[in-house]
Amino acid sequence: MTARVAINGYGTVGKRLADAVAAQDDMEVVGVTKTRPTFEVHTALARGYRLYAAAREHLAAFEEADMPVDGTLGDLLGEADIVLDGTPQGSGYKAAYDKAGVKAVWQGGESHALTGLSFNAYANYEAARGVDRLRVPSCNTTGLIRTLYPLLSRFAVENVNAVMIRRAADPWDTKRGPINAIVPELRVPSHHGPDVQTVLKDLNIQTLAVKVPTTMMHLHAVTADLDAPIQPEDVLDVWKETPRIRFVQGADGITSTAQIMELARDLRRPRGDLFEIAVWEDGVHVRDRTLYYYQAVHQEADVVPENVDAIRAMTGLEREKEESIRKTDLSLGIPTVF
Ligand code: NAD
Repeated sequence: MTARVAINGYGTVGKRLADAVAAQDDMEVVGVTKTRPTFEVHTALARGYRLYAAAREHLAAFEEADMPVDGTLGDLLGEADIVLDGTPQGSGYKAAYDKAGVKAVWQGGESHALTGLSFNAYANYEAARGVDRLRVPSCNTTGLIRTLYPLLSRFAVENVNAVMIRRAADPWDTKRGPINAIVPELRVPSHHGPDVQTVLKDLNIQTLAVKVPTTMMHLHAVTADLDAPIQPEDVLDVWKETPRIRFVQGADGITSTAQIMELARDLRRPRGDLFEIAVWEDGVHVRDRTLYYYQAVHQEADVVPENVDAIRAMTGLEREKEESIRKTDLSLGIPTVF
């Protein structure tokens, strides 16, 4: 069986999702939608993706730009088993997907309530088997779940405090800021803590967040209180068996997010993407029963493999999470642990 996958919203996340789906041998991209004939349309067509206007009113703009469109979203949904929604938060396509009878995956800008299921491949793949809709939580939430879920599975974690130092905008985005300020999120907890709890329901977690003028990655400073003393090696051993965590070392010259992004480019990752969460191995410390660590999240990329696994779980392409994660990671050049 091959899953026929539509991508609605071919932007920062949507174009990465399309390429990741195209790299799977059990899935195909049946088409992508755009609202406007911007430069991404040329690369979408060059990659062989069929192009659809998000709605009828956008058709004329594509015709005027002499860009071949195969129809509208409605036509595309008619050819798909499942749609990955990469549209901006609140675009409101639920009724359209329901009407077309396609399964749907939303991204982290949407609320948990929209789907009732938030997904992380390693943490709750089983819950997604056969379901019609789910949400892959945001880049920050996915990053926290990647390192916290394995800790929860192996240790008694009493409490987690995490500070999110967030990138202001994606690299292409000239409209957002700040460009010369640090902006604290004054609500405590920031939305990230409750969002983590949509997947890790029993975790006691508080989060704070600040926005800083960078486009390269988010950085998390995390403190976890366990119920008994541990050693850093105990934690590192657990993470070494966990998918989608990559260790980096300050001692190797990786002292900031800038070198991590350079590493991703050196690895010849598509678009310089780092799909894994980068954890500073020499930044993992323990005092008695409290664990301290830093991790960096490539905001544009970390949710991509989760979307691919969501397709397998929802469509029944693969029953076992380890097998889906292994397939996805092999296809994207991520070192495998299974
Ligand atoms: P984006 O603005 O880069 O891309 C959105 C795309 O959707 C654009 O191509 C736009 O033309 C298109 N679009 C706009 N309105 C549309 C409509 N009504 N119908 C169809 N297409 C429409 O946005 P993004 O950053 O890729 O975000 C998409 C989702 O992914 C959001 O939920 C966001 O919160 C989430 N997300 C973003 C990031 C990130 O770092 N950018 C990371 C993780 C999750």
